[in-house]
Amino acid sequence: MVRVTREPFLTSRLQGFGTTVFAEMSALAVATGAINLGQGFPDEPGPTEVLDVARSAIGTMYDQYPPGIGVPELRHAVAEHQHRFRGLGYDPDTEVLITAGATEALTAALLALLETGDEVITFEPMYDSYGAAVAMAGGVVRPVPLQPPADGTGRWTFDESALRSAVTPRTRLVLLNTPHNPTGKVFTRAELTVIADVAVSADLLVLADEVYEHLVFTGAEHVPIATLPDMRARTLLVGSGGKTFNTTGWKVGWVCAPAALVAAVRTAKQFLTYVSAGPFQPAIAAGLRLPDAYFTGIAADLQRKRDLLVGGLVTAGLPVVIPEATYFATVDVRPVQPDGDGWAFCRSLPERAGVVAVPSVVFYDPADAHLGRHLVRFAFCKRDDVLVEAADRLGALA
Ligand SMILES: *Cc1c(COP(=O)(O)O)cnc(C)c1O
Repeated sequence: MVRVTREPFLTSRLQGFGTTVFAEMSALAVATGAINLGQGFPDEPGPTEVLDVARSAIGTMYDQYPPGIGVPELRHAVAEHQHRFRGLGYDPDTEVLITAGATEALTAALLALLETGDEVITFEPMYDSYGAAVAMAGGVVRPVPLQPPADGTGRWTFDESALRSAVTPRTRLVLLNTPHNPTGKVFTRAELTVIADVAVSADLLVLADEVYEHLVFTGAEHVPIATLPDMRARTLLVGSGGKTFNTTGWKVGWVCAPAALVAAVRTAKQFLTYVSAGPFQPAIAAGLRLPDAYFTGIAADLQRKRDLLVGGLVTAGLPVVIPEATYFATVDVRPVQPDGDGWAFCRSLPERAGVVAVPSVVFYDPADAHLGRHLVRFAFCKRDDVLVEAADRLGALA
């Protein structure tokens, strides 16, 4: 969300959301032959069991419009998965809605739930679709900063009083992402208890983006806020198959919530896409039913990749907050970029070290740009040999 020059045809609601950093940085990677650790997509295929189901579904009735709420086997698989991993019970016929990725689930929820001028509390840095989706829904983002650890080691935290004072009479919901992109933070039970208390006392809904729920490393535990006392009734839990099954291009997501909330989201969703991804829906259902070993295996795999990248970043002299989950690691560029300009660092990194990363400032509200100016995000969801090579190249910065 870097405010740029005014786009002549674009509505005022969407001014400033026009150019994503990923387009510029991916073009830079192509032009320079640098390793692209900017955008967070995996470079290895997903599990054969999942891919095979999609292949054999093509050419069958799955090619036609699925039911508006999603194919029954996927709705059942989502409900079973929530029960198996989280102990949460959702009725697959009324409390589960299949969407075009988590992105549509979030956008449809915001369109369904916000009146013009309603406020949404979210932690920043924040995933880049949040600001635009809230704006499309006529809402206003009230960011609460996550602070990196002062000494470079430890965890990102937030100030409880900053959260409490972000609540106003116009606050409608908290948009909570845990595990969190871009910081790699997993909100602790204690932190979630504070957020839940704020939600209950101010009568707020919680829109919980949990797309990284299975990509959590040793020492951290993902706790869905819906499992806290009194929270299931006011939480919309959003998930996706993209990150869990290395199928980010399939865009199969879901929302689980009490029936009245799902009905509201469905009303907005049916006029966005109506339905999507017919043959991929049974495939993601098969994925969600894979044995536990699959889910622990992907986390262990990614933890090894994290360690490969983090090792390279440390050798390069870049202070890095060790991510507890997700695809991403954040560094402070100041030791190797004395002016502390993350954009300048990212623009010169291909030439300095043959690697592309993204400046974290794009994940901040423009008013808070100073908080993220010196931070840069690297993705580690890449093949081991790619990460080893990237780590080696980053050594040139030291
Ligand atoms: C990738 C991502 C999404 C989008 O998920 P899709 O299923 O691809 O739409 C949503 N939220 C966060 C935090 C993400 O990183």
